[in-house]
Amino acid sequence: MSAAVYPKIELHVHLEATVRPARLLEIARRNDVRLPARTEAGLARFCRPRDFDDFIRVWIKTTKALRHERDFHQVVMDYAADLKAQGCSYAEALFSPSEPMVRGTPWQESFEGYCGGADEAREVHGVDIRFTPDITRDFPVEIAEQLVGWAVKYRERGVVGVSLGGSEHRFPPELFARPFASAREGGLKSAPHAGEVAGPASVRAALDVLHADRLRHGVRAVEDPALLAEIAARGIVCDVTPRSNVLLGVAPSLEEHPLPRMLAAGVKCSISTDDPVLMGTDLTRECAAALDLGHTPLDMYEHALSGAFCEAATRERLASAAAAFDWDSAGMGT
Ligand SMILES: [Zn+2]
Repeated sequence: MSAAVYPKIELHVHLEATVRPARLLEIARRNDVRLPARTEAGLARFCRPRDFDDFIRVWIKTTKALRHERDFHQVVMDYAADLKAQGCSYAEALFSPSEPMVRGTPWQESFEGYCGGADEAREVHGVDIRFTPDITRDFPVEIAEQLVGWAVKYRERGVVGVSLGGSEHRFPPELFARPFASAREGGLKSAPHAGEVAGPASVRAALDVLHADRLRHGVRAVEDPALLAEIAARGIVCDVTPRSNVLLGVAPSLEEHPLPRMLAAGVKCSISTDDPVLMGTDLTRECAAALDLGHTPLDMYEHALSGAFCEAATRERLASAAAAFDWDSAGMGT
């Protein structure tokens, strides 16, 4: 008999990158959108980015198939089933509604589709999904402000924060001070990408200007020991995604990933997938990679829980699930 699947929490996953090739082809046909390949194998081959800029190209050419409320709803439901099978009953997911919006999909279709999918996922799979919609840095700040307006409107439907994504090396956090201030005023948390494609200066600005409650990645903070110490002292959780960092050239290899240095400095690190299907991974594999780097299943869970933006009742449920689990057996499980 195999050992138990240990409980997990996923805090950094882009929903557009969770769609399996078969489903993406089906949605593209339905929406009359041409993808870069017509078969599952062809699409899987296309989804092997060489670096960050190539990843953005792959992202745009595949995720453009998602256009309607029904598509977004279906994406969440499929993904919730994947999470459940991996022992994960709570996720804070990202989606990037500005991209479909500039292609003609009204904001409301994105928000309604994803939030409606989460309602059904809770009932059908028992998985709680909250959202931190991703502001795309590459678009004008006015679009970010519109996104924040919709995010605040959907607070009661599971939106808990906002993120900042896209080309970190071209568009620094300072440009987005205003939308992040509006998000805070609207009761939303801040969880920008920082310290992935750009270095410590980007992390510093994410903390000081965007008042990050949590950092997506943050791994390049290891280049500045004082900054790393500050992140540890403030208890700011970094959502670390080992394989994504290697694929996009942020870390030279899994063996040389900065996670051990972050943990040694006392930084709390949740373990996440980032873009599971686009990067050929899943939460179980990422957690296994983190185990090899010295993390433990219980610490991954507790670090993630301390950074999660959920309300008290959900936090208590997640804490009780951890308390009831036999973590001593987790080392042998998945
Ligand atoms: Zn990300």
